[in-house]
Amino acid sequence: MKLTQFFNNKNINKYKNLILQIREIENKFYNNIEPNLIAVKLKEIKESSKSEKEKILHAIALANKASQHTLRMSYYDVQLMGALALVDGCVAEMKTGEGKTLTCSAAVAANYALGFQTHVATANEYLAKRDQETLEPLYSFLGISSNFCVSGMEKHEKKESYKSDVVYSTAQELGFDFLRDNLVYSLDMKMQPLNLYKVKAIIDEADFILIDEARTPLIISGEAPIKNLDMYLKIREIALKLEKMDRAPEENPLYIQVMPKGDFWVDEKHKTTYISESGYEKIEALSNEIHISSLENTENSVKKNISSLYQNHNLWILHEIQNALKAQYCYIKDKDYIVHDGEILIVDQNTGRISKGRSWSNGLHQAIEAKENVKINPETVTLGSISIQNYFRNYLKISGMSGTVMHSSEEFSEIYQTTTIQIPTNRPLIRKNHNDKIYLSLQAKYNAIITDVIERHKKGQPILIGTTSVSESEQISQLLSQQQIKHHVLNAKNHLLEAQIIAQAGQPYSVTVSTSMAGRGTDIILGGNKEALLSILSSQQERITERKAFFQMIIDQIQSEMLENDHVDESELVENQDDHIDPNELEELIHQLYEPQFITELLNRGNKFTLHFLNIIDRSIEKQRAIVESSHTKWREHVLNVGGLYVLGSSRNESRRIDDQLRGRSGRQGDPGESCFYLSIEDPWVNVFGKNPIFNRMAKTLPPNEVISSPLVNKAFEKAQSAIESFHFGVRKDTFQYDSISDEGRRTFLKLRNLFLTDNETIKEMFIGSLKDFLMPISESNFYLYIEELNVLHKEFNTHRDMTSELLSYDIEKIKELINNYYSTMDFHKKEYDSQSVSIIENFVVTIFESEKDENFWSELNNECLRLLDKKWTDHLVFLDDARNDVGFSAMIQKNPLYEFKKICFDSFSSLISEFRQNIIENFYYLKNRPEESPEEDFVIKEPQIIEEYST
Ligand code: ADP
Ligand code: MG
Repeated sequence: MKLTQFFNNKNINKYKNLILQIREIENKFYNNIEPNLIAVKLKEIKESSKSEKEKILHAIALANKASQHTLRMSYYDVQLMGALALVDGCVAEMKTGEGKTLTCSAAVAANYALGFQTHVATANEYLAKRDQETLEPLYSFLGISSNFCVSGMEKHEKKESYKSDVVYSTAQELGFDFLRDNLVYSLDMKMQPLNLYKVKAIIDEADFILIDEARTPLIISGEAPIKNLDMYLKIREIALKLEKMDRAPEENPLYIQVMPKGDFWVDEKHKTTYISESGYEKIEALSNEIHISSLENTENSVKKNISSLYQNHNLWILHEIQNALKAQYCYIKDKDYIVHDGEILIVDQNTGRISKGRSWSNGLHQAIEAKENVKINPETVTLGSISIQNYFRNYLKISGMSGTVMHSSEEFSEIYQTTTIQIPTNRPLIRKNHNDKIYLSLQAKYNAIITDVIERHKKGQPILIGTTSVSESEQISQLLSQQQIKHHVLNAKNHLLEAQIIAQAGQPYSVTVSTSMAGRGTDIILGGNKEALLSILSSQQERITERKAFFQMIIDQIQSEMLENDHVDESELVENQDDHIDPNELEELIHQLYEPQFITELLNRGNKFTLHFLNIIDRSIEKQRAIVESSHTKWREHVLNVGGLYVLGSSRNESRRIDDQLRGRSGRQGDPGESCFYLSIEDPWVNVFGKNPIFNRMAKTLPPNEVISSPLVNKAFEKAQSAIESFHFGVRKDTFQYDSISDEGRRTFLKLRNLFLTDNETIKEMFIGSLKDFLMPISESNFYLYIEELNVLHKEFNTHRDMTSELLSYDIEKIKELINNYYSTMDFHKKEYDSQSVSIIENFVVTIFESEKDENFWSELNNECLRLLDKKWTDHLVFLDDARNDVGFSAMIQKNPLYEFKKICFDSFSSLISEFRQNIIENFYYLKNRPEESPEEDFVIKEPQIIEEYST
């Protein structure tokens, strides 16, 4: 038995026992409890001296009562099991449709009884709001305050939200709020609680967030020094003149290298490019042709030749050329990004959605803008960054749930120190997973997919087609249209109607094409999601009522004399084939009713037409509502009879886990269902990761349109897929390891920063401490020197040779007195180290500064130092960014890049701190001596402007 299995069984037995106890407590104590006493009771439990275990069991029993009262649902045993695992800090595998949202509430109640706040991270903002709103009645019944936190909310609103007992948000928003909080200049501007280690985190779709999204750190950035934007275009011109090698040079150094002809090669796997020696020469020559050095920034316009690209001040050219090459050869339009309204929008590779407001860093985004010939936006500089992994380590405990975690149990334990546990399903799973269908060519694969879809569509079986890219979705969509199969596409370009499309995806005859189902979090219900559809129709009804009033008002006002036209055909608007309704068209129509141009057009057709038009929409909504109400049961039966939801994967994903996510949409809560993946040896991912000689042989011998069924081929695909899995695991581990190295510095930095924010005495202590350090280097060995110096000082008070003397000149009279004192009490010619007299001098100097009574002065110094600390931190981050790139080369000279990076990071951070301490004294001196007329505003501290947030 595997170790994980052993723990699983042990935990499950433990939980089974606890569940019995919860049911018993509920029966014994709370069976007839007055509903309005539930909150009172929970508070009592929270404040009682009961053991932790007792508190948890009672809280969950009460939560069950509250759930029955408010949501008319009772926790299933498996949900209680999941909740206990969450309280324990485990990652629980609970399949799609098992009710993870509700499960979470039981864990939140238990956390509350234990005196902890909970942060729930969902996969997207829609779900954060939806889940909080669904559970709000339950929580308020329990006396637990709940709220959500999403982007676009005002700071003070978020701050209020964060005070709640449970906060719903996304991992990204939580992480970004943390980074934003680290830029504030006063404590009350912070949104999150100061100490997350008093908060527990629950992560829904945990694998998606902690694994897929954790590949790249969260970064916020502000404006960088302005570069010459023409530069990107010129650089691109050079890059396009370089010749691409048809293959990479041999990596193994034991082989005699035969360098293929060309200036650079492309590493598709790592999305990067390498320049050859001939490439360097060509770049040098081309750079001089166009006087590239004059383009670096807007200030530098001297036209001089560069002699070598390797010179420090020319390194930027290579960097930008690399970007231009990557933009051209590694980043693909409509896969990695889309161009929309003259803007480059990044497509999130996990969700297939647009990453709003994100951009690639270090000039790559600009290179892609140059490639697509759109407006180039200036670059930015990092103000703060953190990886998802390290963000969640701030919490007291993290726990999570998802339909697919067991494949990644190793990663969870290695990186998050959490145990994974498999919770049984409420009803047995009866989905049929068909064997993969493998074809030689893409063409053959797509033909087979369409044939399969046509067959099943005829019966009315709902079909969900999962693709791996936006372009593949579009290609399949086109093929479906050619066959006149009505379908919906869910991808980065179309997420407005997402909830609606998913709500219909389980209806008979429904065909849905989706880029990625990971993190979509909405459940496909056989026969369609009646509740969701009715609620959408209600919202449409509200809007049409509002629009009717609006148009009526306009018509009353303008008394239009335009031509009346009353011929309107209702059938134009409501399409009603197979009783299969499509509220999307309605949604789009209603949407248009808010657009000025459409409003004008409509009014131009005449009053009567307009009102008639609105009435038709109104009636269609009513009609559709009636259809949903009356046909839902019929639809469900139809779908059950034809085998449930059919999930078709148009290709394997980059991990088995994501394949399972897709599959898991079918067969929920014991429903029937089927799944099948279609593969071809021409699939793009096979080429990048798993060129297998067996594929070539097959291509030569087999007829092109046949299904290949051979265990050897299946094995080859498995091998390719696990190569991708471990490659990505490597990348994530890398991100994590590098971030963990800088994390130590970050923690010290934040501790210091928070000290400045919370405690006004800190600055005094820091100052005195630093001052002592400056006086401290007096040891036996340099005592003579020190005495010499004092001697000089004594004679020449005006000497400003170094820091010490500057300081000493702060109050000449006092210092004079001090040194005279020294002379009078000590035998100056003793010439021996005498720690007592040295410390007398030190204390004396320190007392002079300590006696500074003006509190304003200290708080000004405090702010000034905070600003300084932030500036140093930003410089440190920029430095580390570069260092991270540079250490990549260490591997080539047999050094461990991680170790090198650790060293660099440590050195940089140590000098940051010691410089900072020195700067405190400089600042003190500066503030003390600044001219009287210096305007106050100089010292008003502004938070830096965040202009971008991204994680790529
Ligand atoms: P998951 O996130 O696990 O895929 P959801 O939380 O979205 O599942 O729940 C799926 C559906 O099951 C929802 O419609 C929810 O209301 C319903 N549900 C969950 N728990 C229960 C329960 N204990 N009793 C009845 N219905 C439930
Ligand atoms: Mg869910």
